[in-house]
Amino acid sequence: MTAPAPRPEILNIQAYVAGEAKVQGVNRILKLSSNEGAFGPPEAAQEAFRQVAADIHRYPDGGSAALRQAIGARFGLDPERIVCGTGSDELIQHICHIYGGPGADLIMTMHGFTMYQIAGTYAGCRVLKVPERNLTADVDNILAAVSPATRIVFIANPNNPTGSLLAMDELERLRRELPPEVLLVVDAAYAEYVTEPGYDPGTALVEAGENTIMLRTFSKMFGMGGMRVGWAYGPPAVIDVINRVRGVFNVNLAAQAAAVAALAEPGWVERSVAHNVEWRTRLSAALEALGIKVWPSHCNFILADFVTAARARRADAFLRGRGIIVRGMAAYDLPHCLRITVGTADECTVVADTLATFMSAHRDDGETDG
Ligand SMILES: *Cc1c(COP(=O)(O)O)cnc(C)c1O
Repeated sequence: MTAPAPRPEILNIQAYVAGEAKVQGVNRILKLSSNEGAFGPPEAAQEAFRQVAADIHRYPDGGSAALRQAIGARFGLDPERIVCGTGSDELIQHICHIYGGPGADLIMTMHGFTMYQIAGTYAGCRVLKVPERNLTADVDNILAAVSPATRIVFIANPNNPTGSLLAMDELERLRRELPPEVLLVVDAAYAEYVTEPGYDPGTALVEAGENTIMLRTFSKMFGMGGMRVGWAYGPPAVIDVINRVRGVFNVNLAAQAAAVAALAEPGWVERSVAHNVEWRTRLSAALEALGIKVWPSHCNFILADFVTAARARRADAFLRGRGIIVRGMAAYDLPHCLRITVGTADECTVVADTLATFMSAHRDDGETDG
């Protein structure tokens, strides 16, 4: 008997490996592997979640109208041009299937977010990963990869896992020089953390034309990764087609209520940004003082560079043995790096202290790394 066969390209997909949450035999776990925000979920979101418990027999509002209103009010955007998703991951999938498919090229950068590759391949696209410069997207390299087959370009700005930011004038140049029929996706999952003057998460490019869409999420700044809420702001025609294909009730009742409440939590973003800037700086400085290179980050994580893959693996194992889970970067073609979420003050201190112990124990092994 023959078994059902998937389309052959599906078997080229490496399943997404999420940040781990447990270490065997260790009681106290510091989970710094998924950039989930340092403070947990906002109190108002937790309260809203508890409040809806008695109503969960009801279907949610399929159009997430109250949530789109709240997002629009918060960020100064037209709710009609917003679509919500089961995390921005769902929206990435739809975009790939709507605009991509067999015969279509999707362009991303070498160390871009792996969901683009997974979703693009699933949709049947050829996924092209173009070289970066200094772990930052390079517009010339992206443009050089464009052909008549190009349909979608994905840019995370700032990028996960590198933390790097593409300058606004370069992003604008990319849009200007891409063919107008190519959809540019600006994934601004970390937008709320960015303090760079002049940064725009993509709204200006969305509003300037018909061919750019911005993605956002409640999973990072708003500490709601477990609820799965993301959203897109785009041209009416693009939002319209996503609405035709998305799950009818994609954002569940509790998620909608919690997200609306999270947006209203007073001072949440300000407090989170202040904490992130302070502790990202402190953690980076502490690691640099140990001789570990840290790439500049605009996000709520740092990318620590251990020069060799062997040393990064040993550091990862050393941390893990002490209950500290960070993210290995082999899947991102950065096997010599570890990505570390900026957690609470205590968590940052423990990570830095543990890496200090690691570095003093492994001071002389640099040459023997393979
Ligand atoms: C975390 C992340 C997302 C996914 O967010 P969800 O809304 O949880 O699906 C998308 N893009 C980037 C770059 C991310 O880091």
